[in-house]
Amino acid sequence: MPELPEVETVRISLEPLILGSRILEIREQTAGVLYNWTGQPDVAGGRTVTGLRRRGKYLLMDLGPDLLLVAHLRMTGQFKYEEQPPVLRKHDHIVLSLEKPGTGPVWLVFHDTRRFGRIWLLRPDQASQIAGLSALGPEPLDPQLDSETLRLRLARHSRTTLKAALLAQTVVAGLGNIYVDESLFLSGINPQRLAGSLSLEEADRLLTCMQKILQAAVNARGTSVKDYVDALNVRGSFQYQLQVYGRAGQPCTQCGKPLAKTRLAGRTTVYCPQCQPV
Ligand SMILES: [Zn+2]
Repeated sequence: MPELPEVETVRISLEPLILGSRILEIREQTAGVLYNWTGQPDVAGGRTVTGLRRRGKYLLMDLGPDLLLVAHLRMTGQFKYEEQPPVLRKHDHIVLSLEKPGTGPVWLVFHDTRRFGRIWLLRPDQASQIAGLSALGPEPLDPQLDSETLRLRLARHSRTTLKAALLAQTVVAGLGNIYVDESLFLSGINPQRLAGSLSLEEADRLLTCMQKILQAAVNARGTSVKDYVDALNVRGSFQYQLQVYGRAGQPCTQCGKPLAKTRLAGRTTVYCPQCQPV
């Protein structure tokens, strides 16, 4: 599932390709993937892409000051950028045709094999009606986020494990299974600890490690363990730097003892019992 570094990589790869382009048409190949909340069927035609932003795992495309396209890739959603008319394949659900100044027509195809991904077309004031988007916690890479804020936000989830609280998106935005496990390992904190039990020193260590991991993953253009690729079909390379995710039973890179596996918040969780004591 694309997490913050993967969605950020998609954003970075798309920005120079489509910023300033004019949308000619948004065509639905599959019903039920695009939610148009504006009440106007052809509202996006003729609009210029004025911004491409990310919030948590959501991608936000500004189409002028009063129209917004929001995408959530969920498990397997991908945007594929094409400079030739796309030959549509199975699981190509939405096709955006754009006109790029000086280049001519280009296409952006939303492809999603599992079909959990969603695209919304709405006015900016309607964005708060996307439940997952309005409930997001702060951006973990925001320099304004401090460790006391993180500690307090975790403390609101006092009865859940740290793993569950960090996956919830309401404490901090954008982390999923990979980056929660990696951040907790680097900070030496056990994922089964209660979210409210962290000291300020531990919250500070967690925030520093989380930021270090996420920034390194963005620099590596994300993690491609399954089918994740960016808008130009390029795989990420952070999978070569993973310390715990997908490595249960293998030796810990720090102490050499075998990594343990457990299930928390319904997700496989890998950690080192030696380096991350309870
Ligand atoms: Zn270890």
